[in-house]
Amino acid sequence: MNIKNIVERALDLFFPPKCGMCGKIGDSYLCNKCTILQTQLQINKHEIVYDKYFNEILFIYEYKDIIRDVLINYKFNDKSYICRTFAQAMCDNDKVNEYIENFDYIVPVPLSRKRLTKRGYNQVELILRMYIKNKEKCNINGVYSLIKKREIKPQSTLNKNDRATNIMGAFSINRNSKYCYDTEKKILIVDDIYTTGSTINECARILREFGFESIGVLAIAKD
Ligand SMILES: [Zn+2]
Repeated sequence: MNIKNIVERALDLFFPPKCGMCGKIGDSYLCNKCTILQTQLQINKHEIVYDKYFNEILFIYEYKDIIRDVLINYKFNDKSYICRTFAQAMCDNDKVNEYIENFDYIVPVPLSRKRLTKRGYNQVELILRMYIKNKEKCNINGVYSLIKKREIKPQSTLNKNDRATNIMGAFSINRNSKYCYDTEKKILIVDDIYTTGSTINECARILREFGFESIGVLAIAKD
């Protein structure tokens, strides 16, 4: 056991892990009961896409029931520990692991600086960091090749056409990322909730215009 593990164990004594789904305090961020429950709620739907800037997409869940409640709780109620719950669920999901293994780089949809300051964390980035940490042998690199340049109106308040216009030009390539120039690599964009797909499609458009050709999407939940 290395120092880091000892520290984590010690922290667990004072702040024991809590299941992100049911709130049960115990020894895991995803209790046995909720492990089964979330497995039943998985759709793991893979689609090849022809009318977007990305080539394929995998949806893990439908955006409903407890998945919807937990995602809302995670995003808006300052419960950052829930990242561990989703990371654990993803690590245990063979379809997700197989899909992710096809890519070289994984990039979360970025938040604007204002939103990031307000929430304190990018909810998707935390899940991915935890996923990569849990899967020690995984070959994927978490990269931050995109930035959100400006604040936009919340997409959830707009209809489909207005969403596409609203998000247009909101992202750009993060040229400080050394990985952003490896455009021959396969890149996977990840978001939490997929509704009309305008946000993620705009991220894919920026990456494609920069030169990436092989672009996939992973959405935790399909609305
Ligand atoms: Zn639970």
